[in-house]
Amino acid sequence: SREWHLLQRPVGWPKPEDFALVEVPMPVPGAGQVLVRNEYLSVDPYMRGRMSAAKSYSAPFELGEPMEGGAVGVVVASDVDGIEPGDHLLHFLGWREYAAVDAGKAVKVDPDAAPLSTYLGVLGMTGLTAYAGLLRTAGFKEGDIVFVSGAAGAVGSQVGQLAKLKGASRVIGSAGSDEKVRLLVDEYGFDAAFNYKDGPVGEQLREAAPDGIDVYFDNVGGDHLQAAIAELNLHGRIAICGAISVYNNTEPAPGPNNLTRLIQTRGRIEGFLVGDHYDLQPEFVREIAPLVASGKLKYRETVVDGIQNMVEAFIGVLRGDNTGKMIVKL
Ligand code: NDP
Repeated sequence: SREWHLLQRPVGWPKPEDFALVEVPMPVPGAGQVLVRNEYLSVDPYMRGRMSAAKSYSAPFELGEPMEGGAVGVVVASDVDGIEPGDHLLHFLGWREYAAVDAGKAVKVDPDAAPLSTYLGVLGMTGLTAYAGLLRTAGFKEGDIVFVSGAAGAVGSQVGQLAKLKGASRVIGSAGSDEKVRLLVDEYGFDAAFNYKDGPVGEQLREAAPDGIDVYFDNVGGDHLQAAIAELNLHGRIAICGAISVYNNTEPAPGPNNLTRLIQTRGRIEGFLVGDHYDLQPEFVREIAPLVASGKLKYRETVVDGIQNMVEAFIGVLRGDNTGKMIVKL
């Protein structure tokens, strides 16, 4: 069985030499564990944080150990009551081909209800992030004008469409290519979108949001955040989900210089972590699964084949190679 180890902590952009694909003996399940052959592995921007030694909400990956992450696989051996070979599990021992998974830490998923990869994306962690961040943290209300960055990505594309489905008066998105911008407007129903590489974000946002914004869902940080603060309306809300524009910085990025706008607008900026919102999971699945099944909520996945290409896929997410959720298929 093969698994990816972190060899050294990346400085700046991760490089292939920071990682190694290592051949190890087949894992042997202990008490309460089942043997799983992974089929879909998740690569996510937050993993960049776990590659650093800095203290954060989840522990750093250990050097010379397998990395972790979301995964869906098929059970190949089980002595655990209620789990049979052939069952599919969502669990956290990704970055490897085979895993001995604690049954208590895994969730059964149904391949007939939805494609297995979607349990990592639109019906999984990134989907819940969009749902909780928009509805709970940002306190979205019908009629709001919503701006979302990283809008063609897994979280962002779901935020924008959900806002639209729930009665936003205008949804604006930003993304890093003209093709992604077209996708937002033509397929996902955004009212306006721009390519942040085309010119200053502040100017492009002002043009796309002539009546300001009530909600900003931030996936990017940096100049996007500053631009959103500048356009915030009275009682505007900003949900800080991620800050991908700074994850590879080696020096702290300058903060927004316009926070006094929050005084005039009585605005609010609040960060959130999806891990605190799993109480919403049942309601999220009940509401979102039918929208996905009926095609009212669309999603894309960028699927990379083969565990040997997983590091490239991970670096690709940070670079914007993906449209929608980045998935590695084994
Ligand atoms: P995405 O699918 O959105 O992939 C990341 C995207 O970020 C890329 O496709 C790229 O698209 C964009 N990007 C990369 N660099 C920049 C940059 N300098 N400026 C603007 N955009 C950039 O990933 P996810 O949907 O999984 O995650 C989106 C955000 O949400 C991340 O910041 C992530 O850390 C955060 N997150 C937070 C969670 C929480 O609990 N708070 C949980 C899950 C995710 P493009 O081509 O448009 O540049």
